[in-house]
Amino acid sequence: MNNYYDYAASTPVSDLVLDAMHPWMQLSFANPSAAHTEGQKASKAIEESRMIIAEKIGAMPSEIIFTSGASEANNMALKGLAFQYLNEKCHIITSSIEHKCILNTCYFLEDIGFEITYIPPNKNGEISPELVRKAIRDNTKLISIHHVNNELGSIQPIEAIGEIAFENNIVFHTDSAQGFCKLNIDVDDMNIDMLSLSGHKIYGPKGIGALYVRNARESELVPLIHGGGQELGIRGGTSPTPLIVGLGVAVLNFPQKKSDKHLYFENVIKNFNFIHNGGNDNLSTICNVTFSDDKEVKRFTNDYPWYISQGSACNSISNIASHVLFNIGLTEDEARRTFRISLPPYYITS
Ligand SMILES: *Cc1c(COP(=O)(O)O)cnc(C)c1O
Repeated sequence: MNNYYDYAASTPVSDLVLDAMHPWMQLSFANPSAAHTEGQKASKAIEESRMIIAEKIGAMPSEIIFTSGASEANNMALKGLAFQYLNEKCHIITSSIEHKCILNTCYFLEDIGFEITYIPPNKNGEISPELVRKAIRDNTKLISIHHVNNELGSIQPIEAIGEIAFENNIVFHTDSAQGFCKLNIDVDDMNIDMLSLSGHKIYGPKGIGALYVRNARESELVPLIHGGGQELGIRGGTSPTPLIVGLGVAVLNFPQKKSDKHLYFENVIKNFNFIHNGGNDNLSTICNVTFSDDKEVKRFTNDYPWYISQGSACNSISNIASHVLFNIGLTEDEARRTFRISLPPYYITS
């Protein structure tokens, strides 16, 4: 897929990841919860992966709960916390440009009586920590602001938001599906209490992700899937050894450098007239552009048969203009001329 420039939607599994996963599907398929030596072997592989992920974000292995992906991790963080307050209900602060899995979870929680504030971004797609501070109420129990916006690439000031949450004794969750491995994360320095991550955004397999939960052992997070006590009883279901091993290997081998695709794209895009959306504090692998007119759009899409998205992949299915683009003030016409080109992710220093 030479023309694939939609890496923010999904990445391919790397060869190393695929090779590492293979033995756990047929040779060593035992249930990792089983007491026999084959089960224990699988369990040990899972714990190694847990250690790799914990180390990447400055957490303890016991604070990593494996899930089916970032969508489930986000649901687990929001519903798991909200369901502790089913009787008195509580207030949650989030932003209006979160991923749909956060927004739809919040709409559901509103339907059953919770109060939600959706902080709007500025025109660069940044959430102001001051607006978050002003939104705090007596019954605010959770602040959930994403790390990197999946459509714009804008990096949110999560350190400042984490500090505000900490000062006010409010749990801080961040959806870092687009930030994990690409940017430095230290959950202590950034006052993050819960963090969602996903495998298939970092050359790992689809269907695996994790939620970091501060002091998970003592956590009162309400499980979404009750099961056989796996994952500290917070997430039931037989642990998928191949996927978990794949996730760990993806983290260990995450690329440190740009690929040739970046150079190629830089050379192409400079020949067009466009406005770049998403401000200066922006992940360089997500390029959101509004072309100056329909002629430029045609030139871009006809000359280069890109696999790209208008807005996010999820919006493409529903074929409605992106909520993110409307929120940063684009008109419907501008949104129509707007494209997200996302390049192979790599670790971005500083
Ligand atoms: C991809 C993505 C998700 C969903 O992750 P899955 O693992 O596919 O469920 C959530 N949030 C953001 C910001 C994403 O980019």
